[in-house]
Order: sequence, then structure tokens, then C-alpha cells
Amino acid sequence: MAWSLLIKNGTVIDGSGAAAEKADVAIAGDAIAAVARELPENAERIIDAAALIVTPGFVDIHSHSDFFYAQCPSAESKIRQGVTTEVVGMCSFSPAPCVPESRHQVEAQAHSLGATLKVRWSTFQEYLTALEQTRPCVNVVHFVGHGPIRYAAMGAQNRAPTAAELETMKSLLAEAMGAGAFGLSSGLIYPPSAFARTEELIALCSSMSQRGGQYFTHMRGEADTLLESIDEAVEISEKAGVALQIAHLKSQGRDNWPLFDRALELIETARRRGLPASADVYPYAASSTFMTAMLPEWVHDGGIAKLLQRICDPAARARIITESSRSADGWGTTHGAIGWDEIMIATCPDAAVEGMSLAALASRERKPPAATMLDLLVAHDAAVSVVLFTQAEHNVQMALKQAYVMIGSDSLGLSGGTGPHAGHPHPRMYGTFPRVLAKYARDVGLFSVEAAIAKMTGMPAAKLGLRSRGLLREGYFADLALFDPQTINDQATFADPHRYPSGIPYVIINGKVVVDAGQFNSHPAGRILRHASAA
Ligand SMILES: [Zn+2]
Repeated sequence: MAWSLLIKNGTVIDGSGAAAEKADVAIAGDAIAAVARELPENAERIIDAAALIVTPGFVDIHSHSDFFYAQCPSAESKIRQGVTTEVVGMCSFSPAPCVPESRHQVEAQAHSLGATLKVRWSTFQEYLTALEQTRPCVNVVHFVGHGPIRYAAMGAQNRAPTAAELETMKSLLAEAMGAGAFGLSSGLIYPPSAFARTEELIALCSSMSQRGGQYFTHMRGEADTLLESIDEAVEISEKAGVALQIAHLKSQGRDNWPLFDRALELIETARRRGLPASADVYPYAASSTFMTAMLPEWVHDGGIAKLLQRICDPAARARIITESSRSADGWGTTHGAIGWDEIMIATCPDAAVEGMSLAALASRERKPPAATMLDLLVAHDAAVSVVLFTQAEHNVQMALKQAYVMIGSDSLGLSGGTGPHAGHPHPRMYGTFPRVLAKYARDVGLFSVEAAIAKMTGMPAAKLGLRSRGLLREGYFADLALFDPQTINDQATFADPHRYPSGIPYVIINGKVVVDAGQFNSHPAGRILRHASAA
């Protein structure tokens, strides 16, 4: 019987960290049928990969594409990087579960990112069924967000849950795990997740430990409180008996850059005690988030409508400005102290301001920068996102090098021209994976290309317990990326973000050639992957 596809003469890096080897790879249907030094040319199609490296498709261990799949099932900006599986439901956000009162909250979150999402589900199971019907091109691993669970149980209240509310949250988490979620994500700077104390998170994580649920966290602080936040994440995971993933590990704000060595020590210490703790990083010294994350926690109490009311109330507005102003031209946030020229508007319904810094917009409008920001939030119902230039390059490199650190883009899959309003986003949406391979493995020499590939394939797949994915082995699913080690480059920049990378001519998902000689075929090749404990 002929194979459906044969990849000839390539250099295989199998995702385990093992050294590159010349090998042919045969695919039959959705699976890798054979890997050997030389295979007979007995296939319906042959790709000559003589100048190319052949690897497992990349697993983006931290993605937010769940808010974009309905409009952009192609996830083209991810797949063109070599990504074949995305892990979503991160940072406390997921589109389910929903109660009638929380639907608008999920829709507003999508709107803040430039997307339109119509919530037509309640349970996590109903949502996953709807997601399956949108037929994404990429494989999807879903976590359930702590935010929608808490919102469904008790609204956006800034207080501890009652015993009954905590039980409701546990049952919503159990429902999501039963539907196929891989665990719980928190986002402890994002209300309502931020309103939870440590005990609540321990209780929720404990309730999923028996079924192998994992705890992925955007920690309570990545700036002044970075170290305490790592302690909290470790405490939650150890007491609950669940594996830990620290999302987008970093130290924000110039004053906090020196904390990073100690932060890494804390993680190492927990790992030595036996905690399955790991982390992910995106290869840029800038982050991106909702503009509302620039406001103090109390402003968020009660949800977005209340937040907008407070900004419009003169006394509350004055309090926000007094509390957060730092020195002459800085702003103090959960992201550390930041200058107004270090905050760039990424997406906004007023496209004319996208790509501008708040300093530049303020001087154009002849207003103080703080007032400019608050007015912008009010004018657009808080639907504004930002890029923050708050990190040190040497810390980015130090994080990337850690043996337990994987690559996660922390971004959304876009497709040029269609789908969500993309604005002027962080270039990580287009460049994360090729940037690690080009800049950090090839040019800077932080690690070998084999080690870099393992951080994108074998390691995340093993962390998640994905069955037959993440390695290039006979019998595994045929998720593959083929790239030219000389010409692979991220092309997207902060000034010009909508640019696909170069040097990745083929991406194969479940045996389907989705990127074919550089052309994108919007083939619904992806699958919704379900956790082993799913009902
Ligand atoms: Zn996050």
C-alpha cells in the first residue's frame, strides 16, 4: 500500500532533545508510518526536504486563540510559525462555562481583543461542541478559566466565596474536566480571578488533583511582588497536589529586573522538592494585555460597567490618578512602574490611535497622559489593549535557557485581512517560534536547535500528557513542521507586526499539508484534544 506522503532527504530533529539525523518520514493518513534513513519512494506525494529540518509540529503551550477561533478558525499566524497544537483557556479566561449574567462578560473580553464572539452555550461541554463545529485548522488543548467559573458562581464580587459558592465552582470545574479540559488556569491580576485568595485556589485545585488536572497560572504579580507570587503558586500546587505551570515567566519594571535570579531559584527549589513545576516564555522583552490591567484592583470590583462608572466619577478618578502616578511621567501598575512612552496602544475601536504610545497620544491631545488613558477607556467601553515595554532582554534570555522553560506565545492566531480586528498587535502573534529558532538558537547561540525544538514539542506534550504527539516517531500523529535553518526568521516587528515568518515552507497537521510550499491551505485539519480523564 502506498503512503499518502513521503518526506525525503530531510534532517530530522525528533523533539526529544536528541541530535539531528538524516531520515525519511512516511505518512499514512493522519499518522507517521515510518521513519528511516532511506525509505522507498512508494507514496502518493513526495516532498524533497534536502535543505530542511523536519520536526514535530510546535505546541504553543500558552495561547489565547480561543477568543478568535469563531472568526478565525484558520489560526494562520500560528500555523505559519510551525504551530500545530495550541493550548488555550489561559490566564483565567475561557469562553465557558457561562450563566446568562456572565455571557456579556465573555463577549466583552473578546471585544477588548478585537473579536466578536456570540456566546450560545452554558456548560464547558456545550462550548467544546460548538468549538468543534467551527473546525479549527489547528489542534486545540483547552483549560478552563478560573474567571468564568467564579463569575458564574458569584458574579464579579471582590470577596471570598461562601461555602455554597465554592461548591458551585468545584462542580463547574468538574464539569469542564469531564468535558475534556486539561486543568484550571488562573489570572490573578484579572478580576474576577484576582479577587480569589490563596485558599480558594487550593480548594479548587485539590478538587481536580485526583483526575490529573493541572494548574496554569498568570501569577498575582510579575513586578514588585514577583517573589511572593511564585511562593503562592508553589503553595497552591503543593497543597493541592497538582502540577504547576507558571505562565509567561518574567520580571516587569526596571526596578524589579534584579529580582529575576531569585525568582528562578524559588522555582528550582520547588522542583528539587519534587513539585512538577515548569514555566513558559515568549521571546520578547515586551508584554501585551488589556488596558484595564493598568488600573488598581478596586476599580474592577463589580465588572466593566462599574469600572467605567468609577473612571467617570470625579472622586474615584482622582483616587486612581493619585494612587498610580509615579514620579513625573510614570504610572504604577501590577506591571511595575512604567513610563507613558513604554505603553503602546495595540487594539482600539479607533484605529487611528493604534500603534501610538500614550505619551504621543497625550501630547497630540494636549492632555495629561493619565487623563488620556482614562478617557480612551471610557470612549471605547474599555475595549482597548496595549503593548508594554517593561522587561529586560538579559532576563528574557535567562528564562529561555532554563531546562524547565517551554515556549508559549501568549497570543492569538490571526489571518491577514479577515476575522477579528487585529489592530497593531504584539509581533509575538506572528513571530514567537521562528524567533526562538532564528535569533536565540542560531544567532545568539543560547542553546542548540535540538534543545529549542524540544522546548516547543516534546516538553510541552509530555507536560500535558498528550497521547502520541510532540515527538517525531512511528505511530505518532503526523503533526510536522519543515523549516530551513538558514532562512528561518521572524519578520514581524513592533513597528510592522502583520508579517508572516520566512523559511517555514511546510506545516502538516494530522497528515494534512496546511502550509504547502509557502502557500496556506485553510484546511480544517485540527482536532479538539481531550484530557485523559474526560468522561
Ligand atoms: Zn497572562
